[in-house]
Amino acid sequence: MANSGTAKIIDGKAFAAGLREKVAKQVAKLKADHNVTPGLAVVLVGENPASQVYTRNKSKQTVESGMESFKFDMPADTSQETLLGKVAELNADARVNGILVQLPLPDQIEEHAVVNAIDPAKDVDGFHVINTGLLATGQDALVPCTPLGCLMMLKDELGDLQGQKALVLGRSNIVGKPMAMLLIKESCTVTVAHSRTRDLPAEAREADILVAAVGRPQMVKGDWIKPGATVIDVGINRVPAEEEGKTRLVGDVDFDEAVNVAGAITPVPGGVGPMTIACLLHNTVTACCRQNGIDVPEA
Ligand code: NDP
Repeated sequence: MANSGTAKIIDGKAFAAGLREKVAKQVAKLKADHNVTPGLAVVLVGENPASQVYTRNKSKQTVESGMESFKFDMPADTSQETLLGKVAELNADARVNGILVQLPLPDQIEEHAVVNAIDPAKDVDGFHVINTGLLATGQDALVPCTPLGCLMMLKDELGDLQGQKALVLGRSNIVGKPMAMLLIKESCTVTVAHSRTRDLPAEAREADILVAAVGRPQMVKGDWIKPGATVIDVGINRVPAEEEGKTRLVGDVDFDEAVNVAGAITPVPGGVGPMTIACLLHNTVTACCRQNGIDVPEA
């Protein structure tokens, strides 16, 4: 798979727009055929500016896709008990098919306690231990949105992934680990690398598929990449821009170098990022169908 030219740029923005369109059609069909409108509840605790932007976008896109959106903004000093009370209320609310509690949570609240209090059938972030376990054992799960978006783009680009050597760089619960599980399910040969990995560039050079989720700006260099490999850059890092006082977003991959070696690559911004919310909407439709005993539409 030698690549003498420039990599194909995988357009996550366009892919996400297509997925949102598909979701909107599925929502319209659920309404018409079953008189069911999927509902997504988004809970934000505190005033983290990035989380405010994310939750606003999630709610906006939920409405645009024809679903019901329920948004709850709770003060930063909310107790764990109060938040668990809100989760219990949403678990019991039949209009709510998906529940998302925006992370990170303030220090007085234990994240695992909240995530595991969400009804697994409504856990559209896919972080509940039940969904993690279902994914790990190859069963139908609600799958974390970011790795799900990465997998959709990989399958679109490469078709059948079986036998491919994949390197997942990062082992977080929200990206690295579920990404590895998904790739194992697709019959890839998967290596998971992290901060204690001995020779990262050498591991990376073996990979037909490289998924970078480290949170280190432009760490993956061009000479780490196997010629022709497919590179999925999950990283979102804000760095100083050339213009004084301004910043810009870069990924975990040095795009300018990688684009000359890879076969295909996702840019930052405009790659994985837009897919995450589109997959959240997709997961909400999936959750709604399962809760109502309706066949889950193909993504
Ligand atoms: P975490 O900080 O939770 O995990 C980072 C992982 O990278 C860890 O496993 C860590 O290893 C590993 N790592 C850190 N430094 C190095 C290093 N120098 N060499 C090798 N491995 C290293 O991050 P997330 O998984 O939550 O996120 C990763 C990136 O993806 C971030 O930039 C984040 O902003 C972005 N992101 C983007 C999303 C999107 O929608 N596009 C959604 C979620 C995240 P160890 O375990 O050993 O510490």
